Amino acid sequence: MQSLFRLPGPTPLPPPVLAAMQRPMIPHRGIEFRSFYRDLLDRLRRIHRTDGDVLLWPGSGSAGWEIAIANLINQGEPVLIGVCGDFGDRFARVATLLGANVRRLDVPWGRAITPEMLRDGLEQHPDVVAVLLTHNETSTGVTNPLKELASVVRSHGALVIVDAVSSAAGLPLEVDEWGLDFVLSGSQKAWMCPPGVVIIAVGERFWAAQGRCTNSKYFWSLADARDAALNGSTPTTPPLSTLYALDAAARMIESESLEEVWQRHQDVGSRTRDGLENMGLELFADQAYASNTVTAFYPPSRGSAKPIVDAVYQEHGVTIAGGQGHLADAILRIGHMGWVNLEDIDACLEALALTLSKRSNCSSM
Ligand code: PLP
Repeated sequence: MQSLFRLPGPTPLPPPVLAAMQRPMIPHRGIEFRSFYRDLLDRLRRIHRTDGDVLLWPGSGSAGWEIAIANLINQGEPVLIGVCGDFGDRFARVATLLGANVRRLDVPWGRAITPEMLRDGLEQHPDVVAVLLTHNETSTGVTNPLKELASVVRSHGALVIVDAVSSAAGLPLEVDEWGLDFVLSGSQKAWMCPPGVVIIAVGERFWAAQGRCTNSKYFWSLADARDAALNGSTPTTPPLSTLYALDAAARMIESESLEEVWQRHQDVGSRTRDGLENMGLELFADQAYASNTVTAFYPPSRGSAKPIVDAVYQEHGVTIAGGQGHLADAILRIGHMGWVNLEDIDACLEALALTLSKRSNCSSM
């Protein structure tokens, strides 16, 4: 399957997903769509490990942040957000923009939010109604210990709102067992689909909480989406081709089995980290929380990242990413989520090694 496209999203599209997008349009209020949509939502429920609701919108991951706040947090209500990278920071900005009273729990980028830190944060801010967490911080390659964090939030009584954009369908994620109230992800990551669909899973506590939320909303109303989904429908025109893609991807995940998918991500994650360290490169993230969907590392001698991104593409056709925010030129990132296997990682690492050795030969001349 070898792909040279190793961005941490969007990710390579497997042939069944590409083929599914060739399907002709059908009436989205017709009988065929109703059974297709119900079946798709059932698959997504199984992959999220939930008996609750899974609902879909046209949109990217960022829309999920807005959907969470719009449906749950009244103007001025206090929320606590764990920020350990660029996406946590953006989530905090969105919540602030939409009127939440945002309290931040910041940790240095590259580190994880630990249960102890969260417990302290909740002691300092006992009035918060929700805690916003990034499961996998794509900008730093850190996976926060979500199960343990959710348990701390649950004992406090606040809602658990999770950005699972770069973890869902790649890393273990147990919506019901871990007591997650709202989980958002985007089609272009481990779901192996083109960008364009935001996927939301919600539990029972969500429905109780959203009933007391007075924010105006039309497009992002979860209650409307649930009512429509009960009839196998969507409130507005669904992004049909991307839903076909998502259906094909969900079938692939189920036929491989979710546990095997998680194991494959663990294998490619280890292979990437070992390979980089064998090349003498320094990993960026706290390795106790290393992500199995994206790895961040420093360029040799902590030099500039951007020229390496360009060179490995120009010389070998391999796409990797630089950093984000203040780390834009300081770190490199290799995405390994979705449709990826060990050979893909080996090919990427080989190209990177050749590029780096050429650069070091040139600079020593
Ligand atoms: N959250 C995380 C963890 C992400 O990795 C991303 C995108 O990479 C987003 C949110 C934002 O998603 P999008 O760019 O699809 O709006």
